[in-house]
Amino acid sequence: MEPRDIKSYTQTELEAAMLELGEKPFRARQLYQWMHEKLAGSFDEMTSLSKELRKKLKERFLYVSLKPVCEKASKLDGTRKYLFALEDGHVIESVLMRYAYGNSVCISSQVGCRMGCSFCASTLDGLERNLRASEMLDQIYRIQAMTGERISHVVVMGSGEPLDNYENLLRFIRILSGEGGLNLSQRNITVSTCGIAPAIRRLAEEGLSVTLALSLHAPDDRIRQTLMPIAKAYALSDVLEACRFYFKKTGRRLTFEYSLVKGVNDSLPDARALAALIRGQHGHVNLIPVNPVKERDYVQSDRRAVEAFQGCLEKNGVNATIRRELGRDIDGACGQLRKRYIDAVKTPGEEDEEGGRGE
Ligand code: SAH
Repeated sequence: MEPRDIKSYTQTELEAAMLELGEKPFRARQLYQWMHEKLAGSFDEMTSLSKELRKKLKERFLYVSLKPVCEKASKLDGTRKYLFALEDGHVIESVLMRYAYGNSVCISSQVGCRMGCSFCASTLDGLERNLRASEMLDQIYRIQAMTGERISHVVVMGSGEPLDNYENLLRFIRILSGEGGLNLSQRNITVSTCGIAPAIRRLAEEGLSVTLALSLHAPDDRIRQTLMPIAKAYALSDVLEACRFYFKKTGRRLTFEYSLVKGVNDSLPDARALAALIRGQHGHVNLIPVNPVKERDYVQSDRRAVEAFQGCLEKNGVNATIRRELGRDIDGACGQLRKRYIDAVKTPGEEDEEGGRGE
């Protein structure tokens, strides 16, 4: 953690920092509340703190507050997609999805990604850097503040591999679900991973109850290796063993994400092999017709193939749902909006009508 990034401090760390400034513990609580409950956009908004203290804070600390640079609203559903600028000029994307059970925000955990999955836009330009806890939190805070709507669910399924940014992820989860902040139930937080087996085992032992989603995308190691480089480092047997350990330790059922790519992983033999692989696991399969990325030539499976795949899983004793595709008209899939924005900035004048601030 960057030492002066005050929004990434836990309550205990903040108390120690305030003590150093000669302030009483209740000031630390007030400050924490301004940041994590009232979602203040700057020190100046913290009117119950004296001007003098606000000045001291400004001199000593970095206050992370993301700047919205582009916002897109889907005409098909209530989904909204945001591009935020960080202090160093990088941009990240976040998505607000409205469901019957509440509002869910999908956040990014890194700027770019180094996992290299072949169907994913987030990884096309590699990893720029990890996001700090404050930068993950503020995606949620800014969206809640801008819409005025309570966020009840968070999915760490945007750009980046959360378990490749482990320490900051943990700090993020603890602040988001802790007292004195938004106090979100850990059960309503989902962390999606491409399958870094040792990190899954480590997460299982943190005493958390967050939901884990595994990006599976293939019924065997051979197909998985063609889609996901990480599959060469960790065999499915190892990853699924880590998932069973996660269930054993946390009691949380898992989600297995499976993006269907026409002619690659969507046949009925693939479905049968997947059912055999997953049957002993505590969890269900979430089928996602792959979202075509313009830099790749992957084709989405037909609706009928998706339904046949689901039927085959169910017949073989595995629960499977087909994910509703939200925000398809606004570059809904991982990293697509950011990629388009960066490409447009690199080659000014070529930005199409969807590239700007559109509604
Ligand atoms: N790195 C994490 C989280 C980010 S991706 C992970 O791998 O799980 C969130 C999910 O979207 C993953 O399951 C990912 O494989 C999937 N995904 C990425 N690009 C996609 C695309 N173009 N179409 C369908 N799913 C995609």
